[in-house]
Amino acid sequence: MNGYLRRVCVFCGSSPGAGPDFTRAARELGAELAARRWGLVYGGARVGLMGALADAVLAGGGEAIGVIPASLVEREVAHEGLTALEVVDSLHERKLRMAELADGFVALPGGMGTLDELFEVLTWAQLGLHAKPVGVVNVGGYFDSLLAHLDHTVERRFVRPEHRDLVLAEGEPAALLDALTAWTPRPVEKWLDR
Ligand code: AMP
Repeated sequence: MNGYLRRVCVFCGSSPGAGPDFTRAARELGAELAARRWGLVYGGARVGLMGALADAVLAGGGEAIGVIPASLVEREVAHEGLTALEVVDSLHERKLRMAELADGFVALPGGMGTLDELFEVLTWAQLGLHAKPVGVVNVGGYFDSLLAHLDHTVERRFVRPEHRDLVLAEGEPAALLDALTAWTPRPVEKWLDR
């Protein structure tokens, strides 16, 4: 049981995606974080799902901390109303800083940046570099094919089942936050067949 979950890092699209469901889920997650008094750590932009998420946290009276590389301050349009905005030197530094600040990780739908961030924290988890829960909000089945591919990696013996199981998945933001809270770390050897 993760009694210590106080801040959650959320990775999500800098685009809104197609249709209203993704933005709705981002707003729901933000409202849920604020209601639980869990802080948000995210990429600091005010565009796409990132902006919708941060706005919902702030509207609920919650804490929203953005971490953004200087090179993206203008391109992603940094959010100016955040509790705090940390400007860092690179995307690598951003990922590391977001991971330091948070007690758990959530991915909402997004593009390559979101997937990169999700897989980076998963690879850190399977190497034992952190023991924090990781999950995806599977809005409208957006992550179904990714989860199926992860099952394929297990079938083909590139990933241990225990590491596959690091990816929690729920259709609704509140259910995923509950799953993060219930998660407990399991130490597992990284390599299958050396
Ligand atoms: P996307 O899901 O592609 O819209 O991107 C979501 C976030 O990931 C944005 O804040 C991007 O700046 C960020 N991002 C894009 N590429 C990378 C990368 N290689 N490493 C880390 N973050 C990235």
